[in-house]
Amino acid sequence: MRLRIPEPVSAGIILSYRCSGECRHCMYACSPGWREGRLPEGRLGRMLEGLRGRLVGAPGGGIGINYGLHLTGGEPFLNFGLLLRAVRRAAGMGLPSTFVETNSFWCTDEETTRERLLQLREAGLRGLLVSVNPFVVEHVPFERVERAVRVGSEVFGENVLVYQPFFYHLFRRLGLRGTLSFERYLELFGSRSLLHAELLPMGRAVYRLEGVLGELYGRRRAEDFFGESCLRELTRPWHVHLDCLGNYVAGYCGASPWGRRRTWRGSSPGWTWRRGPSWEPW
Ligand code: SF4
Repeated sequence: MRLRIPEPVSAGIILSYRCSGECRHCMYACSPGWREGRLPEGRLGRMLEGLRGRLVGAPGGGIGINYGLHLTGGEPFLNFGLLLRAVRRAAGMGLPSTFVETNSFWCTDEETTRERLLQLREAGLRGLLVSVNPFVVEHVPFERVERAVRVGSEVFGENVLVYQPFFYHLFRRLGLRGTLSFERYLELFGSRSLLHAELLPMGRAVYRLEGVLGELYGRRRAEDFFGESCLRELTRPWHVHLDCLGNYVAGYCGASPWGRRRTWRGSSPGWTWRRGPSWEPW
């Protein structure tokens, strides 16, 4: 069966699934254990070319989670050279509202942080998204996250998104220094505080947060969902991802990205958009 999907209006490129840490809530189960899975330059070029002229930029020339292009992972700053080249090529093709997402692990001092962000800005990057939640601060000291936000704001002005701000302010009020285990987080704030989070029941969360998710949302059998349709998730045009392995990853479907790479790579058909040329497999 060939699924026809609308053209994307905003998209991310997953440069690698490798990450500096291993969050319990990671929707793509990223970790330091992933092999580099380097995105070939030719594939990167074809991806950017395919997105050219299709993405919608954020109003006022800024950035927004569901606008334009974002570069993500895994952790994009683990391969700064690739990130820089991707930014240059995207800017050269006129792709709008390009920003990069990071867990800030690399923001060990002001100078390095500023230098890298300035290099990226010079290459054409428009902004930065800094991830903050109880799972990231298990392995990234919070002062690095604060540094990313502070220096990022100096370099990109208002074009710095903190995702999710509830936790950023919570940890600032706590005066957090260093890391915080999830067990300690639950002692301090309780599991119901997670209702403020955008918890996505997919990827590693399904295995590593099973107890908490069950407590917050109740437990359901797989059969309870058999009559429901994933069509809207699979065909939504915003915030889709193209990954380093050549897959078109649709919306936040709770099932499709679970498998190991070899099981879900094969399920990537030659996607076709409703208008315009075919989306060829990479
Ligand atoms: S920092 Fe992001 S990519 Fe890395 S493990 Fe956590 S959620 Fe996944």
